[in-house]
Amino acid sequence: MHKNLRTKKLRIALDCDDVLLDTYASLQQFYKIQYPMHIINPDAHLKTWPAIGMERVKFIDFFEQWSNSPYYLRTMPLDGAIDAVRQLYQSGHTLYVVSHSFSYLLERRWGHLRNWFGDVFTDVILLDGNSKRDTIKQIRSDVFVDDCIRNILDCHDVTSCIAMQNKINRQIFIQTPMPDGVFIARGWPDVMSVISNKNRCH
Ligand SMILES: [Mg+2]
Repeated sequence: MHKNLRTKKLRIALDCDDVLLDTYASLQQFYKIQYPMHIINPDAHLKTWPAIGMERVKFIDFFEQWSNSPYYLRTMPLDGAIDAVRQLYQSGHTLYVVSHSFSYLLERRWGHLRNWFGDVFTDVILLDGNSKRDTIKQIRSDVFVDDCIRNILDCHDVTSCIAMQNKINRQIFIQTPMPDGVFIARGWPDVMSVISNKNRCH
């Protein structure tokens, strides 16, 4: 299986939150503890990330509290992510993490990712609020995997994009026309198929 992954060595840029790690689940858990009386609005994700219905300014505070709490370190990998990432690494591809997270988290992010995935990433790049496009170009990414449509739309003309659909962004995926050449993946097995097919075409 996936033997074609061995043909061409790719430079693969991976988003972290809700691609490598199930960040949404962890934030939601923490939110329920902090605000037990609040009901999470299922449509909130249409306006704010990450679907907890907070204004961005409040969310930045909340995110910092979460990242300093034990919940942060309990954030689990997304289903299938560990096996897939290890397989990509063992096949000789170069893996980068390119995340819109806050730079103060860099050390903990590295540590947390290393705990789950091992020493497989060439670099972990945290961009604060900056666009991913320049970084994607700088690292000469062949493939970019992200669950955020805004990032996919921003980068689809500079790299092959795989848009990861999940329960949080499903509605936005339905509403947004995807540019030609963008693949939609409904999980890591789909990501692996796309990369494998892409390699076969080279
Ligand atoms: Mg994400």
